[in-house]
Amino acid sequence: MTSTVPPAVPHPDGRPPITMFGPDFPYAYDDFLAHPAGLGRIPATELGTEVAVIGGGLSGIVAAYELMKMGLRPVLYEADRIGGRLRTVGFDGCDPSLTAEMGAMRFPPSSTALQHYIDLVDLRTEPFPNPLSETTPSTVVDLKGESHYAETLADLPQVYRDVAAAWSACLEEGADFSDMNQAMRERDVPRIREIWARLVEKLDDQTFYGFLCDSEAFKSFRHREIFGQVGFGTGGWDTDFPNSILEILRVVYTEADDHHRGIVGGSRQLPLRLWEREPEKIVHWAYGTSLATLHDGEPRPAVTRLHRTAGDRITVTDAGGGIRTYRAAVFTAQSWMLLSKVACDDALFPIDHWTAIERTHYMESSKLFVPVDRPFWLDNAVDDRGEPTGRDVMSMTLTDRMTRGTYLLDDGPDRPAVICLSYTWCDDSLKWLPLSANERMEVMLKSLGEIYPKVDIRKHIIGNPVTVSWENEPYFMGAFKANLPGHYRYQRRLFTHFMQDRLPEDKRGIFLAGDDISWTAGWAEGAVQTALNAVWGVMHHFGGETDPANPGPGDVYDEIAPLALPED
Ligand SMILES: Cc1cc2nc3c(=O)[nH]c(=O)nc-3n(C[C@H](O)[C@H](O)[C@H](O)COP(=O)(O)OP(=O)(O)OC[C@H]3O[C@@H](n4cnc5c(N)ncnc54)[C@H](O)[C@@H]3O)c2cc1C
Repeated sequence: MTSTVPPAVPHPDGRPPITMFGPDFPYAYDDFLAHPAGLGRIPATELGTEVAVIGGGLSGIVAAYELMKMGLRPVLYEADRIGGRLRTVGFDGCDPSLTAEMGAMRFPPSSTALQHYIDLVDLRTEPFPNPLSETTPSTVVDLKGESHYAETLADLPQVYRDVAAAWSACLEEGADFSDMNQAMRERDVPRIREIWARLVEKLDDQTFYGFLCDSEAFKSFRHREIFGQVGFGTGGWDTDFPNSILEILRVVYTEADDHHRGIVGGSRQLPLRLWEREPEKIVHWAYGTSLATLHDGEPRPAVTRLHRTAGDRITVTDAGGGIRTYRAAVFTAQSWMLLSKVACDDALFPIDHWTAIERTHYMESSKLFVPVDRPFWLDNAVDDRGEPTGRDVMSMTLTDRMTRGTYLLDDGPDRPAVICLSYTWCDDSLKWLPLSANERMEVMLKSLGEIYPKVDIRKHIIGNPVTVSWENEPYFMGAFKANLPGHYRYQRRLFTHFMQDRLPEDKRGIFLAGDDISWTAGWAEGAVQTALNAVWGVMHHFGGETDPANPGPGDVYDEIAPLALPED
């Protein structure tokens, strides 16, 4: 099943692939990364200068890696573990090759900046078994107590196909889907900006649900209900109904929810390998230098205080009592950390940025995984007379019961395997919050027992469950940002924060990055793109520049800046 196929999925008719290029800031991060001229250089007098990088998730690790390559000295602080929300864990007492992805687990090929780093550290990807995807053996959709077994959409009752058609019609009618899709494939910046400006003005105050209700195609409540369950891509999108429709359009235009691939061996390997990696091309530092060697193997501990000191310096205090002062710092932890876990000076950011940080809205998310002896779900089901039905005994399952999404993850027929018994968002996640891992598992097995009365899942379980509720994690407080209606302006302030020439001098030097300040939170691509913005910002702050042949995001900012909506 494993392969190293080229990242982006070519369109069957030969059109260019879709990538996460815009729509808000159509900058080619993938081309920037691939260019032999590199990401830029800093003046010789600045070589070796320390830059604080707060957070060792993907964004912090990418920023630190690129700053190190430029000849700066990143000083990485990490409160929890390297990888952040790329959190791959094992099961106590089980074969270490059995792992569970507690955070990100499936990556769209349109994430081409992310793919650059996946390739750089030689990781392989394989198709992820999403509902009804080509490589998923079977899917069961269970709604209101009625289950349907399907290998493709065509196997589901007509109403499901009607709902899929309604979604296409609704996107076409309300969001110029085909036009935008073509413009993004062709990287036609003026066209992308023209379509998107119109939609942002029209739809910033609209919820996902309101957008459906406004469409002729979705005038039936039943259709909206089914769509919420099965919807597009991974399904289960009704938990996003109160969010801004702009968030959903970003996902569907960029095909972020399609053609997903998992990272063989686990996503956490990506930041870990970058941490250890010795770049071939590196300025100032000796060949053989890595982030790990610069830090004697360990990042510094949690940051507990951030404040400004004379000369617009940023002074960082850590949980080990260390106090260090920097001319530049990159903050990549989720921005709510700045409101509570890190004692902050108001002078760090302009007041409008503080408002945007306070208004940031995170989605909750819970997962629970169990290890099993083998992929028993591929056994042939039999009917009441003991005759084979030609169906799998159990399938990837979407349901309106407590579990919502169940994923079956195997690595060959004769090896132990893993079930994600439940993956939930928002209110569905909060329903699990007070329950222990075992209590959760019991409720999940009961729900699945109602869908698969003849399957004894429990007898295959070979180890304790592992679970997470991201809203309950002290260094995260939520899974990922999801803008509500009216949040476009806040989002714009945070994303554009790296353009610091526009800020008062006493508000410069600290750079926000991480997926929650990106336009596409919940996708690792946003963590990479905003890290690259911050790298450009730091380079510029130190008087550096890019090669004219490879302009960075800040060099072309004025031509492609996100639409500014009026404030009054
Ligand atoms: C449940 C879930 C499912 C997801 N699914 C997908 C998916 O399928 N595909 C996809 O592409 N993306 C997915 N994502 C999103 C993806 O995981 C993120 O985009 C990416 O990992 C974010 O990286 P980051 O560096 O921006 O933030 P983080 O990974 O959150 O890193 C921030 C780091 O800062 C650290 N930190 C916090 N406070 C402090 C402090 N005071 N001092 C020092 N360090 C601190 C944290 O410990 C953390 O390591 C998912 C996320 C979740 C939670």
